Amino acid sequence: MRAGVRLSLLVLSCLLLLATAPDNAPPLSGYSTASSRSERDWESKFRAIPEPQKQRDYMQRLAARPHHVGSPYDKDNAEWMLAKFKEWGLEASIESFDILFPTPKARVLELLEPTKFVAKLQEPALAIDPTSNQQAEQLPTYNAYSGDGDVTAPLVYVNYGIPEDYEKLERLGVSAKGAIVIVRYGNSWRGIKPKVAAEHGAVGCLIYSDPADDGYVQGDVFPAGGWRPRDGVQRGSVMDMPLYPGDPLTPGVGATKEAKRLDLKDVKTITRIPVLPISYADAQPLLAALRGDVVPDAWRGSLPQTYHLGPGPAKVHLKVQSNWDIKPLYDVIVKIPGSTNPDEWIVRGNHHDAWVNGAEDPVSGTVALLEEARGLATLLKQGWKPKRTIIYCVWDGEEPALLGSTEWGEAHADELRQHAAAYVNSDGNGRGYLSMSGSHTLEKFANGVARDIEDPEKKITVWKRDQLKAIADAKTPEDRKEVRERPDLRIEALGSGSDWTVFLDHLGVASLDLAYGEEDGGGIYHSIYDDFYWYTHFSDTDFSYGRALSQTAGTTVMRLADADLLPYEFTGLADTIHRYLEELEKLLKTRQDEVTERNKEIEEGVFTATADPKKTSVPPPVEEVPPHLNFAPLENASDALTHSAERYQLALQKVTKNGELTVSPASLQAVNAQLLQSERKLTSAEGLPRRPWFQHLIYAPGAYTGYGVKTIPGVREAIEQKKWQEADEQIVRAARALQDEAALVNSVAQTLEKEP
Ligand SMILES: [Zn+2]
Repeated sequence: MRAGVRLSLLVLSCLLLLATAPDNAPPLSGYSTASSRSERDWESKFRAIPEPQKQRDYMQRLAARPHHVGSPYDKDNAEWMLAKFKEWGLEASIESFDILFPTPKARVLELLEPTKFVAKLQEPALAIDPTSNQQAEQLPTYNAYSGDGDVTAPLVYVNYGIPEDYEKLERLGVSAKGAIVIVRYGNSWRGIKPKVAAEHGAVGCLIYSDPADDGYVQGDVFPAGGWRPRDGVQRGSVMDMPLYPGDPLTPGVGATKEAKRLDLKDVKTITRIPVLPISYADAQPLLAALRGDVVPDAWRGSLPQTYHLGPGPAKVHLKVQSNWDIKPLYDVIVKIPGSTNPDEWIVRGNHHDAWVNGAEDPVSGTVALLEEARGLATLLKQGWKPKRTIIYCVWDGEEPALLGSTEWGEAHADELRQHAAAYVNSDGNGRGYLSMSGSHTLEKFANGVARDIEDPEKKITVWKRDQLKAIADAKTPEDRKEVRERPDLRIEALGSGSDWTVFLDHLGVASLDLAYGEEDGGGIYHSIYDDFYWYTHFSDTDFSYGRALSQTAGTTVMRLADADLLPYEFTGLADTIHRYLEELEKLLKTRQDEVTERNKEIEEGVFTATADPKKTSVPPPVEEVPPHLNFAPLENASDALTHSAERYQLALQKVTKNGELTVSPASLQAVNAQLLQSERKLTSAEGLPRRPWFQHLIYAPGAYTGYGVKTIPGVREAIEQKKWQEADEQIVRAARALQDEAALVNSVAQTLEKEP
C-alpha cells in the first residue's frame, strides 16, 4: 500500500518537474537549443529518482556502528557501498592507501592544586539513544595528531586561543610560557589553537566546549533538544593542515605501499605540545580553580562562575600518548566513461568515515551521494550518454586529515591536472538554505542549477529562497540593492575543512561545495551523539533536504558533464578579484591608521593614565607604521581579466545564432581543452610562502584561521604578518597568474571570433 502511494506521487512529481522546463526556456549556458532541451529532459527524469526513504535506510545502515579510519565497520561500509554501486550496474572499485593514524593509548587530565579533581574524559551512554552505548568500538575523546607528552604546569585561560587573544593576554600582564592553556572551541579551526599555544611557549593545551557556543545557551541539550550536553566532547584533528593535509608521512605523493615515507620525528604537521578536547563538565572545576584577574568581557563564557585568567593556583597534570599506527584507507571510486569527451572529467565526492557513528557528519551527505549515483545509473539504463567522464568518490579518512581525498588526488595528480574539469563536494547535510561555495569561474553556473531546484518546504526555488534570505540579512542598503539586482548570488570562496582541498588548492581544479542547512542547529558535532537517533529527531528528519541535495549535486554533475562548451564564466571571477583587491588596499590602510593612532596614544600617555593601578596592564609597544605597497600590478591584472572576460562573452554571443552554437567540432574541442586549464592558471608550482603544497594563488585556508579562507593569500597573509617585502613580491606573483588567466580567456575568445 505504502509503496503504491509513493509510486504514484513519484509519477506525479515527475510530471510536475517536466512541466517546469517549458520548450521556450532559454538554452542552458554552454548548450545549443536542442542539446539544452534534451539536457533538461534528462535532468527532470533524474530529479524524480532520489528517494528520502532510501536515504533514511542507508543512514541507518552506515551509521549503525562507529566507523572511523581503521575500524572494522569503516571497511564494512566501503564494501557495502561498493556492492550497491555494482548492483546498480556501475563500474566501481576500492582504492586503498596506507596512512599514519594515531589513536589514544594514554589520556590523563587531573587538577592537582589547590583541590583535586580527575577529569572523566568519557561521554556517557543515554538509554533513549540506542547506539550511544557502543563503547567498545567508539574512539575515546581525543584530538588526533596531538604530540605525545606528560606535563604538569599552572593553568592559564586564553579565550579562543587565537593570535589576538595572546596579544591581549600579554597586555593583561599574563604569559602563557610554561603553562597549560585552556581555550574554548570556536572562532578558528581547532588545530590552530595548540599551534599558537606552542608558539607562545605553552607546554599543553586543553580545548573545551563552552555552553555559550554550542550548549544550553543555544537551545535545549540532547536528548531533550539537539544541543551539546554537559559531557559532550568535540573530537577532531589538530594536525597543522594549513601546512599540508593528508598523510603526514607522504607529503605531496600518494600513500601507496611503495611510497617513500618520512620518519615520524621529521613530521612537521603534528602538534609540538599535548592537546586534549574536554566537555564543560570536565572544564568547569579547572576554570573554577583559576584566580588572578577577571577576564575581559568578551572572554566570558556561560558557565555559572566568574572567569579568571590565572596563572594558577590551579595546577594541572596532562598526559597524552598515542599509538602511532599505519592504517588502511578505503576510497570507493565509481567511473562512468564519457561518450564524446572521455578525457574531460567531472569528479564528485563526499566522505564516508566518521569520528564515531557520524549520522550528520558525514552520512547525511554520503546518502545523498548514493541516491545521486543510483539516479545516474537509472538514466544510463534508459539511454542517457554523458559527454564527459564522471567519477563518483566516497572518501575514507576525511576526519583525521582529508586523508582519502588527498592521497587519491596526489596519487593521480598528473591525470587530474590534465583531465579534471571540476570537483563537486559535499560533507553532511541538514534542513534549510542551500549553501554554495567555490571557484568563481563556476559562480554563474551554480546559480543556474539553484534556479532549477525546488525547496521542499517552501515550494519556491532554492535560489529564490537564498536571495530572499540575503535581502533579509543584508547589512546596508547597497548590499540589499545588489542582491536584488545582480543576476547571480555571490558564492563564498573556499578555505579548507573538507575534501575539495586537494582538488582546488593543490591541483587547481575548479571546485564547488554544496550543502543545505542553518535550520538544523545542533551541538553534537564529532561526539557519540551524532547518530541516527539524533539526526532523525533533530535535523532533516524526513530527508526531504537530503533529496534536495541529491537533486542539486546530481544536476550539477550532469550539467557539467553534458555541456557542449564547458560552462565556466569569467566576468564574475573578474568582479570578485576587484573586490578582493579593494579589501587588501583597505586592510593595509586600516593597519596604517591603527598603528599611527596607537603610537600617538602611547606618546600622549593614554594607556598609563587609564590603566587601573589595582590590576595588571602593560601598554602596547610602539610599532613601525606599515609602508605603502605597490598594488599596481594587481590592479592592471584584474583590469586585464575584466577585459578578456567581456571579450569572451561577446565572442560567445557571436557564435550563438538562433540558439545554435555555430562552432566547428574541432574548434569546440580546442576551446574546451583550453578552458579545462583555466583554474590551473591561477596556481603556481612554487606554492605559497612556507607552504608549497598550497598552489592556488587566489584561495587558501589561512595559516592562522584553518578553515577560514584567505583570498589572494600570499599578499593578505604577508600584510597580516607584517612581512612588507614579501607582500610586494606576492603582489607581483598573483598579478602574473591573473595575467596568464586573462591571456587564456583572450585566446579562447580569439578562437571563437575566427569562427565563420
Ligand atoms: Zn565531514
